[in-house]
Amino acid sequence: MSKTTEKYDQGGLSEKSENVKIAYLGLGLMGEAMAVNLARAGLNVVGWNRTPGKPGEVALLTAGGKVARSLEDAVSGAGVIFTCLGDIEDVEQVLLKAGGVIECAAPGTVIADFSTIGPEAARRIFASLNSKGMHFLDAPVTGGDVGARNATLTIMVGGDEEPFQKALAYLEKVGKTIKRCGPSGSGQALKLCNQILCAVNMISVCEAFHLAKQLGVDENLVVDVLSAGAGGSWALTNLGPRIIKSDFAPGFALKHMLKDLRLVFENLDGKSDELPGTKLARELFKQVGENGDKAGGGANGARGTQAMSLAYD
Ligand code: NAP
Repeated sequence: MSKTTEKYDQGGLSEKSENVKIAYLGLGLMGEAMAVNLARAGLNVVGWNRTPGKPGEVALLTAGGKVARSLEDAVSGAGVIFTCLGDIEDVEQVLLKAGGVIECAAPGTVIADFSTIGPEAARRIFASLNSKGMHFLDAPVTGGDVGARNATLTIMVGGDEEPFQKALAYLEKVGKTIKRCGPSGSGQALKLCNQILCAVNMISVCEAFHLAKQLGVDENLVVDVLSAGAGGSWALTNLGPRIIKSDFAPGFALKHMLKDLRLVFENLDGKSDELPGTKLARELFKQVGENGDKAGGGANGARGTQAMSLAYD
């Protein structure tokens, strides 16, 4: 049986998967690419973005999806709802507040959130939606804008097994490595571990470039030769060339990295001394992010994390 014709015996997904309405809320950098891949796979995708007229809407329409005027129109009748938003309060706003998913979606709906919000918030949202008979999966992703466009994301899922199995055929259209890590919050917990790896690694990439400049080594050699060695990493391969070209457009916005490092320590009860390397990385990202405005949303906060290299100019 092909993945798109699997049948489920209960919940909102007892139809062929291409007939199931999929609502995708949040057509930002990641959401756009993921919604487009779902639509290109022939699925019935209806997107919604808080601010109308963003490029994600055009991209989804071009890929064969639809765009709803309101959140309610998007989620009404949906069997699966995906969200890719910002911070905790954004996800709570869309899922739990008046006029949100909790009021507009039907019991039995599977809701998977791709945002990075940490395990504690994920468990809270799980409990609220569960009380209305809805199934919530935390499903944060890694692989960046490149992985989102190529449908090669790694997806770390927390939540119950049955809704995970229901969502799997759809997750396979946007990701390559998909793992249920355990109960609610466990996907977010693993994602925060990933963010430590990303943050500290980004700084090491910038410092390797800085040393190369000081020693008169061609920066291209740092990427071309070292990517294949023990010091190679996703950041070096994918963001190294952007640093060389002074291309600081996001990919993964620095303000989101600051959010994620804040979440690391919030979920560790503020015990920042237990992670001295991450604490230092957070300070360095703060300094660079705050070179715009204090909210971390200024000039550098809106840039990609490779803007960390500006600290070494
Ligand atoms: P983005 O480009 O800033 O997009 C954010 C989206 O969320 C926009 O569509 C925005 O709508 C919407 N949104 C934010 N707050 C909202 C609210 N209160 N109500 C309704 N909609 C709201 O961000 P992104 O890079 O796609 O990242 C989204 C999430 O994925 C973040 O949690 C991030 O940490 C995570 N993530 C990102 C990457 C990456 O490489 N970019 C990788 C892994 C995980 P508007 O257009 O109206 O602002």
